[in-house]
Amino acid sequence: MARRKKLYEGKAKILYEGPEPGTLVQYFKDDATAFNAEKKAVIEGKGVLNNRLSEFFMTGLNNIGVPTHFIKRLNMREQLIRQVEIVPLEVIVRNFAAGSMAKRLGLEEGMPLPRPIVEFSYKDDALGDPLVPEEYIIAFGWASQQDLDDIVALALRVNDFLTGVMYGVGIKLVDFKIEAGRVWDNDYMRLIVADEISPDSCRLWDIETGQKLDKDVFRRDLGSLTDAYTEVARRLGVLPSNVTHAPKPHVIN
Ligand code: UDP
Repeated sequence: MARRKKLYEGKAKILYEGPEPGTLVQYFKDDATAFNAEKKAVIEGKGVLNNRLSEFFMTGLNNIGVPTHFIKRLNMREQLIRQVEIVPLEVIVRNFAAGSMAKRLGLEEGMPLPRPIVEFSYKDDALGDPLVPEEYIIAFGWASQQDLDDIVALALRVNDFLTGVMYGVGIKLVDFKIEAGRVWDNDYMRLIVADEISPDSCRLWDIETGQKLDKDVFRRDLGSLTDAYTEVARRLGVLPSNVTHAPKPHVIN
């Protein structure tokens, strides 16, 4: 049987040609990497959970008018997405100090920030995704000032939505990363949320206990990553064994 054409394989996902022009199939692998792929493991079931969780968040965003690349989930590990031109930036939003920010500035992890802070890293594995100022982004032409204004607005809307959804199930959204992609409707370009939103790319702490429910469990050897992600999925009602209760994908863009 002819296999679909593989277009790109990353650390946690594979992109295949989609069934129609302008679409792709995004496959979620079980591979986990940290510290720029210095630490690697295969975590059974992670891909299935992230496929479900990303579907849940992206569907919610589409439904409140925040455009994303998500079209529909196809099966346990795959989803149909819009093809976009990825802006080569990791867009990070922080509500509390943690990770690289806490380290760089000598802040205690968990310290509330005066306001949500949006920062950008240049997507380049060989360089370890360095933090870059807007000045670099514009000067090197990775995005225009208008693009950055749109991306910040998009990122802050995602932040408000995710913060509220997670708060509703007793989880604090410490920080997260999204990617933005360009789509064209005739000559009109707009930026939409792309890639994935999952515990691989967020910091999620239980509000009561502070327990980590995200990829730091893997990065810092804190226990079972599958258990942590399963707990997030269970609280949100999107466990694979609970599919009948999962919200139906509904695309309005
Ligand atoms: N993040 C990500 N991919 C990256 C870098 C960061 O998804 O390549 C996420 C990370 O999971 C966290 C947030 O972005 O939720 C901020 O990460 P940070 O800059 O603190 O880097 P880290 O400490 O993870 O190296």
